[in-house]
Amino acid sequence: MDDLLTRARTLDAADPLAEYRARFFYPDAEPDLIYLDGNSLGRPPLATRDRLRKLLDEEWGTDLVRGWDRWITLARDAGDVLATGVLGVDPGEVLLCDTASVNLYKLAVAACDARPGRSVIITDDDNFPSDQYVLQGVADARGMRLEVIKTDLDLGVTADQVRAAIAACPAGEVAVISLQHVAYRSGAIADMVAITQAAHDAGAIMLWDLCHAAGAVPTPLRESGADLAIGCTYKHLNGGPGAPGFLYVRRDLQESLRQPIWGWFGQANQFDMGFDYDPVPTVERFLISSTPVMGGYAAWEGAKLTAEAGVDRIAAKGAQLGQYAIELFDEWLAPLGLRLASPRDPAKRGAHVTLHHEAAWQICQAWKHAGVIPDFRTPDRLRIGFAPLYTTFAEVYDAFVRLRTIVDSSSYRDFPLTRSRIT
Ligand SMILES: *Cc1c(COP(=O)(O)O)cnc(C)c1O
Repeated sequence: MDDLLTRARTLDAADPLAEYRARFFYPDAEPDLIYLDGNSLGRPPLATRDRLRKLLDEEWGTDLVRGWDRWITLARDAGDVLATGVLGVDPGEVLLCDTASVNLYKLAVAACDARPGRSVIITDDDNFPSDQYVLQGVADARGMRLEVIKTDLDLGVTADQVRAAIAACPAGEVAVISLQHVAYRSGAIADMVAITQAAHDAGAIMLWDLCHAAGAVPTPLRESGADLAIGCTYKHLNGGPGAPGFLYVRRDLQESLRQPIWGWFGQANQFDMGFDYDPVPTVERFLISSTPVMGGYAAWEGAKLTAEAGVDRIAAKGAQLGQYAIELFDEWLAPLGLRLASPRDPAKRGAHVTLHHEAAWQICQAWKHAGVIPDFRTPDRLRIGFAPLYTTFAEVYDAFVRLRTIVDSSSYRDFPLTRSRIT
């Protein structure tokens, strides 16, 4: 047995999170499938299956509309688990609601309204497309300008780049800065503390996207004094496809911010059915609509599992999985022409590692054909997501053995060059 395989076995044997693998659903159909895309869609926890069955049979099925007596506080109840168990903030600062993009829109507009007269929103060219579109739309509708920082796609945005972008704008013009904490392509972690400080020095509001961070790495919202954040629950939080997202609004800002979609779930005395909108002073003022209960319960179960395992332990294993994968990469793949497209320093990387190859799309298809699911990201990146709650080091070893064979033999050339609709 080679040294690298021995190391995988040793790391698995010492893994304090090893027991969590059995808390997830594995189909009988593909027992050898290696899933390295839990950062796009996490696996279903077994608890979620039980919870949704109970919801159907005992709550929706039996209670019918009376079920709302308990569902009415779901956004806040699940939000509190996210706040205290995942994001490191206080109860009453987080809601489970809407989707990441919708929450970004709500909070970006609320933030711009809170900085009247300022004309600039800052983001970066590595930000997730939906975020870029939402921010473009907000800027466009308000006659503001979206300033886009040029970044290194492998290393992510830096505090110096943010400071330079602010300095390039007329003083007092930056209203909002919105960036990802963990970059979706490279996994690079942005320095939340330094960047939030830079935003605050300019009098701007800082709005973080935590989609690839929540449930993968600690999010220093409290330590940084971040104002606002949004995220989704179907990635590292294993909430299920299309599960609701979340939003964070620092407590002291809640009463002074108003979001643009005035819905009845944010209304004081909702069931008085009054005519005029008068939002509650608490975080619930950022709600719009009836919470999606099925997806909401699934997201809640996912958040509970993460909270139970502990973000620090999850992050530590995520870093180890990444380091181990980079060792395999150095040994086997760098000599074959692949290049590491993520930060090498584990402290600067979330729970995924990205590799560059000009034929990344074909390699991605060949890898799937060989029983490993990663994903492809433009322009030429193979993104490898580790889910610390259920990915084993032995799986990483096996997956990389298959990848080495694919690249070494050039068998990927048999796969189409044209990309499918979903990559
Ligand atoms: C996945 C992801 C989103 C997804 O947005 P939805 O509105 O949930 O579809 C947004 N931003 C980032 C950075 C993401 O990684």
